[in-house]
Amino acid sequence: MKITFLGTGISPGVPIIGSDHPVCFSKDKKDKRLRSSILIEKNNKKFLIDCSPDFRYQMLRNKSNILDAIFITHEHYDHIGGLEDIRPIKRTIPLYGLRRVINNLKKRFFYIFLKNNYSHLNTFKISLHEIDETCDSFLFEKKYKIFPLLVWHGSLSIIGFRIENFAYITDASKIPNSTIYKLKGVKVLVLNILRNQLKKYIIAISDTINIINKISPNKTFLTHISPMLGFHDDVEKKLPNNIHLAYDELVINTKYI
Ligand SMILES: [Zn+2]
Repeated sequence: MKITFLGTGISPGVPIIGSDHPVCFSKDKKDKRLRSSILIEKNNKKFLIDCSPDFRYQMLRNKSNILDAIFITHEHYDHIGGLEDIRPIKRTIPLYGLRRVINNLKKRFFYIFLKNNYSHLNTFKISLHEIDETCDSFLFEKKYKIFPLLVWHGSLSIIGFRIENFAYITDASKIPNSTIYKLKGVKVLVLNILRNQLKKYIIAISDTINIINKISPNKTFLTHISPMLGFHDDVEKKLPNNIHLAYDELVINTKYI
């Protein structure tokens, strides 16, 4: 399974408009982060997790023009803002998300789902599929077993996804034990850096490492990164050997990890 990090930034992206944080002026390409999203390639199928507002540029940059499915973690703008830009992909794309997320998308992108749509948008088709948050797993195309991973994003329950021995979780503030259990045996984990809700959402690297140790994957890549974390190369040096900071355009193959 090939994983491409299309974006690894927090919601405003990095650099942030108007920010005077030194990381926002970094010359290092690894410090430039589009909004978080990954592309998974398996058996010539391409799955997208989250459709960021940078989706169009991410697809062009990655020379990708086809998608077989979209999986949405939650309805915040940085995870769905690029949905309208799937228009040039001339096929119906199945999109999976929690019921709450699907309902939200129907409202925000109502014109996509209008019947008798006579505008140019009528070539634009998404088939919506609700994920039952109590389900253990579901099958995509009767072949790919996908495990939704329930996590807390503040008071909002959102999901990550596990496919085989790879799992992707973003925007988590708390990971329940039931999800940690579902992550057992994962070889490659992508996880956001947790924030301490009791201490004004300060970036909590040690809490993140503790959770990773509980799951014990072979390798973890951290994503949804804020400039407050520091320069990519500095942070990378301080992390344990099996934990890395992801960066835009990083490609990994789970077979070799
Ligand atoms: Zn986000």
